[in-house]
Amino acid sequence: MQFTPEHEQFRKVVATFVENEINPYVDKWEKAKIFPAHELFPKVAEIGGFGLEYDEEYGGQGADHTYTLVLMEELGRADAAGPPMGISVQATMSTPALHRFGSDELKRKYLIPAMEGRDVTSVAVSEPDAGSDVAGIKTRARRDGDHWVINGSKMWITNGSQADWICMLVRTSDEGGFQGMSQIIVPTDTPGFSVGRLIEKMGNWSSDTAELVLQDVRVPVSNTIGEVGRGFQQQMVQFQDERLTVSYSAAMGARRALERTVEYLRVREAFGRPLIANQYLRYNIAELMAECDILIEYNRSMAFRYAAGEDVSRMATNAKLKVGKLTRQVADLVVQYHGGMGYAEENWAARYARDSRIIAIGGGADEVMLRVLTAYEGMDRR
Ligand SMILES: Cc1cc2nc3c(=O)[nH]c(=O)nc-3n(C[C@H](O)[C@H](O)[C@H](O)COP(=O)(O)OP(=O)(O)OC[C@H]3O[C@@H](n4cnc5c(N)ncnc54)[C@H](O)[C@@H]3O)c2cc1C
Repeated sequence: MQFTPEHEQFRKVVATFVENEINPYVDKWEKAKIFPAHELFPKVAEIGGFGLEYDEEYGGQGADHTYTLVLMEELGRADAAGPPMGISVQATMSTPALHRFGSDELKRKYLIPAMEGRDVTSVAVSEPDAGSDVAGIKTRARRDGDHWVINGSKMWITNGSQADWICMLVRTSDEGGFQGMSQIIVPTDTPGFSVGRLIEKMGNWSSDTAELVLQDVRVPVSNTIGEVGRGFQQQMVQFQDERLTVSYSAAMGARRALERTVEYLRVREAFGRPLIANQYLRYNIAELMAECDILIEYNRSMAFRYAAGEDVSRMATNAKLKVGKLTRQVADLVVQYHGGMGYAEENWAARYARDSRIIAIGGGADEVMLRVLTAYEGMDRR
């Protein structure tokens, strides 16, 4: 496992992008409760941030997974998590299934504009009555000749109000359970598609999160990604990409939050000396930094193994669980050690605490990760 000069070069490019194209605007975007994805995404495409691992013929970069690791680590260091979350959705959550399983025609029509940042995309799995339990989704596509007619609703959809197309998991038969689901590309200009509402959230304000409504939405059957009826299985593979990338960015984000807290404690004085002079504070920070470093190394090992073709699904589950727990501890500490300033909206710490809380919930809650891990260990069998 070794980064090359090319990795380091790419790391600098992404860090500069975060510094110039995200950080100066995040306060404005947070207030507006949305970042302008159609303006930002072409710039992401310019630095090769979309389709890093995809074939060049479909607008990808033809690189390996370790470059995705670098991208996500650096995005994780941004001053707000909203824009990086929107970028991550397009880079690693809404498009992998299309690249892996989609037809040539579908990739040319939908993947290329997304990779060029002209199209904004979402992935829609969750529904008002089904999040952790994906088998509980009800949105139904019924076949009518060469078309699907889709009815239902989707909930919590990142980039949902700006998306040009959506990778949507729906039921295409009445089999129930994990059977009979398909992934379908739904262009958002199709009649019958609407954004029901934007959801006001605790954090990630600059990322739009929408409830979507589908009423007799007709899309061609040829918009099905991969095999009809294999949507659940395909989505589970896509979820793994999400878990990996969340861990990469959030572990680095937590490390940066601790570093920024050290900077603050060096200059903030109480009882006649800088706060950093308190051993209690230093030790607690050092301990969490150690945990971040261990997770970052674990992530890197996982990325290089994945790039070498290993199955890392268990590692990804471990990492997603760990990063969800760790960011909660880090968020609590950084707010506490900033005192009143930690609780003030004008300071970054409050935003960090709000933004990072989603990590333990989205893309599979901690308890869902534990459910998977107990199954790996056979503990779910009596
Ligand atoms: C900001 C944001 C962005 C999102 N973006 C997207 C998106 O782009 N696309 C998309 O499809 N979804 C998205 N989601 C949805 C997200 O994936 C779900 O919120 C998540 O999977 C949890 O589902 P739920 O909210 O329905 O919680 P529920 O399934 O109702 O679970 C509630 C809680 O119960 C516990 N729990 C659940 N199952 C178990 C179990 N088996 N054992 C023990 N405890 C359990 C967990 O603590 C869980 O947090 C987003 C959510 C948020 C908040």
